[in-house]
Amino acid sequence: MTLTGRPPLPSSERHDGKPHYAPAARRVVASASARPLEPPDLSGLQRLPMSSTFRGSLAVGCEQCLEGRKMVLFVTGRCRFRCFYCPVSERRNQIDVTYANERLVERDEDVLEEARSIGAAGTGITGGDPLGVIDRTVHYVELLKREFGPEHHIHLYTHEPNPEKLARLARAGLDEFRLHVPSFLWGDLAGAGSAYRRVLEEAPSWGVRRGVEVPVLPGKVPELRRLLLALGRIGVDFVNLNELEFSPTNERKMWERGYRQEPKGGWGVVGSQAAARELVRRFSGSLPVHFCSSGFKDGVQLRRRLQRRAERTALPFHRITPDGTLVKGIVEVPGPSATLEEVRQRLDRSRRVPPDRYRVDERRRRVEVDPVLLRRVARTLPFPCFEVEEYPTADALEVERTPLNRAAFPSRRPTGG
Ligand code: SF4
Repeated sequence: MTLTGRPPLPSSERHDGKPHYAPAARRVVASASARPLEPPDLSGLQRLPMSSTFRGSLAVGCEQCLEGRKMVLFVTGRCRFRCFYCPVSERRNQIDVTYANERLVERDEDVLEEARSIGAAGTGITGGDPLGVIDRTVHYVELLKREFGPEHHIHLYTHEPNPEKLARLARAGLDEFRLHVPSFLWGDLAGAGSAYRRVLEEAPSWGVRRGVEVPVLPGKVPELRRLLLALGRIGVDFVNLNELEFSPTNERKMWERGYRQEPKGGWGVVGSQAAARELVRRFSGSLPVHFCSSGFKDGVQLRRRLQRRAERTALPFHRITPDGTLVKGIVEVPGPSATLEEVRQRLDRSRRVPPDRYRVDERRRRVEVDPVLLRRVARTLPFPCFEVEEYPTADALEVERTPLNRAAFPSRRPTGG
């Protein structure tokens, strides 16, 4: 019997600050994500899994993200823009915290360890707005370049068209930035939009690639089309269009504006994906344009990152699932009267669990055991035993838990060890 299902709420964030771990996307993409890239059609349109498409070439940051080789460095939750669709989760939104993937950063080594744990070829810096903490952002760019070399590719998202800060980041080693143009400025980037135009025009002189990345608002397609034409004339390196998504933190504002969630599941907004695909399909200029669907972010990018982390961090007795999650047996310590040492001694006495098939986890007050062996001995143990499935991430989010013995049911737990 399974006690818990999929996680009730996302516990972490993707590169663009959106919640991930979307349950519906998790198990349906195994074959899609393994499919090789299809050749472009006669019009130059290329298809990716999960309805994503592009024409021209993908940005380097996107290629690495697609392969799960990009670390997400969330430098701060603070942001002075208040986009109604902002999906940043409650525990990060407007809070000055730093995360490397799902790991809370307290010192530089946390960032470096996390990059090593996925074998990162690059880093995507996001927030909040990274330009709001420019000294910190410059520090991380320099740190990553110093540690992993110039080939470690770094891209950054920002809403702030600030040439001084972006030029400073370029000098520190930033390879690519993506400017988030606010939806009320979509169009030909004249008048109030000219600050964004200036940054995009100047950026090549700083030696950095520049693109624009925006969510597709279904009611603003004509303005977005005009923006694409303007960006083509400027000659930006790429444009990324994201599917507009619901999140627990933006849903009230989204509903108030009349947006509705895709009835077939997932986080997508009705009409966003269709509009984006149509924009990419019909776009005829030489500007590289890429539509990245919500399903692709969860089902391909995230899944591959999890697989890479699982392969690099799993213990020999953990079982890695095709989704990149880890299956473990666990023995919990029931209350303060029992100790981890008692659990360890009982396992040793059973003679059916060799010392190299378990590990004592002091922090979580539990012993992790080979799940196959624990199934064999669980009914002889007076401690709660479970088989759990967890993400291989620093926060080790648990997605499923199956009791293996009577002690695992609270009402039937024995009082002593
Ligand atoms: S710029 Fe990004 S982080 Fe800031 S409010 Fe808008 S969506 Fe949220």
